[in-house]
Amino acid sequence: MSAIAQNTSAYFIDLEEAHGAHNYHPLPVVLSKGEGVFVWDVDGKKYYDFLSGYSAVNQGHCHPRIVEAFTEQARRLTLTSRAFYNDQLGAFEKFITGLLGYDKVLPMNTGVEAVETALKLCRKWAYEVKGIAENEAVIIVCEQNFHGRTTTVISFSSDPSSRKNFGPFTGGFVRIPYNDLQALETVLQQKNIAGFLVEPIQGEAGVIVPDAGYLSTAKKMCADANVLFIADEIQTGLCRTGYMLACDEEKVRPDIVLLGKALSGGMMPVSAVLADDEIMLTIKPGEHGSTYGGNPLAAVTAVASLEVLLDEDMAQQALELGAYFRSQLEGLASPHIRIIRGKGLLNAIEINASDPDAAWKLCLEMMQKGLLAKPTHGDKIRFAPPLCITKAQLDECIAIIKTSLTILDA
Ligand SMILES: *Cc1c(COP(=O)(O)O)cnc(C)c1O
Repeated sequence: MSAIAQNTSAYFIDLEEAHGAHNYHPLPVVLSKGEGVFVWDVDGKKYYDFLSGYSAVNQGHCHPRIVEAFTEQARRLTLTSRAFYNDQLGAFEKFITGLLGYDKVLPMNTGVEAVETALKLCRKWAYEVKGIAENEAVIIVCEQNFHGRTTTVISFSSDPSSRKNFGPFTGGFVRIPYNDLQALETVLQQKNIAGFLVEPIQGEAGVIVPDAGYLSTAKKMCADANVLFIADEIQTGLCRTGYMLACDEEKVRPDIVLLGKALSGGMMPVSAVLADDEIMLTIKPGEHGSTYGGNPLAAVTAVASLEVLLDEDMAQQALELGAYFRSQLEGLASPHIRIIRGKGLLNAIEINASDPDAAWKLCLEMMQKGLLAKPTHGDKIRFAPPLCITKAQLDECIAIIKTSLTILDA
């Protein structure tokens, strides 16, 4: 046995290192408690959470109202499978379709399952409604996309580390540059195009915000070509970018919308696919599903999570505080920040440094000072606190970021 004392950070890190697969590279902090915008480590040190579980905890950690709904339902009934009806799923389905304005919803669990569901729906629609010849349907995706980790979804990733030695891959996809309407126009002229799968903002790629008008024009091009516009709102949706859906800003109504992450406020994996009947009803009983998809615990948790977003006006909160946060960051005029970008409270900076580890070092420094953020793609750092953060708290965070940046002074 290791000589490390139990209940220390080193002990828990060691435990994971020894017994867990090495498919992540976490910051060396071990968390044991969360509340609102804060998390605490095993030594009781408190941090601002500027990752929010990759935007899964938009509502804040352990939101009392969501915890209450979750625990109350957990004591009553958690899982029936879809072999039987349950008394909670219908209410969730009615609520979310009413809220977002679609005929139907198909509930799944993880985000990538929602993506897989959308791809299957798009193909079914292409063959059975649009009339593409069987097995010929092509779905357009973007460079630097992130839609999850299954074999089909990594088949159309452009990230070498997501793909290397995981082949052979699923066919039927064509990749175009993001934020490039000309490329979309060109590829839409190819035969057998069924859909266009796009992130309204590319989160994992480093919060890449497309030009104003990109989404609305892309949607129009797709409509003109009778191609489904599929918005992956798993990270951008649910108030994160200042709107219920990021697509709302340009009044774009996608043909298929994907939600996940904050749909449960961080309680459990809950995802959803929304579409109208012409698309959704192409899938018939027995053709698609998931054991946990649509379980009553998930249904109740999702309704509570959506109600919190609405009742606490989190879209407006994200919109206002996001603009304030970016202006304050700009105000630092730090020579170490090359770019600041984002929308609402989904933001990122690019570090200006010759040291390839600069972003990691900055994150370690911010961690020391009580703010948790994680580098992505080397020189980018995402800043995405829970949407319940206050202006005063944000000011405190700006101060932490400001003093932490000085460790990059030569
Ligand atoms: C996180 C994410 C996914 C995958 O969700 P999982 O729950 O991790 O499977 C898909 N698309 C986008 C845009 C995401 O941010």
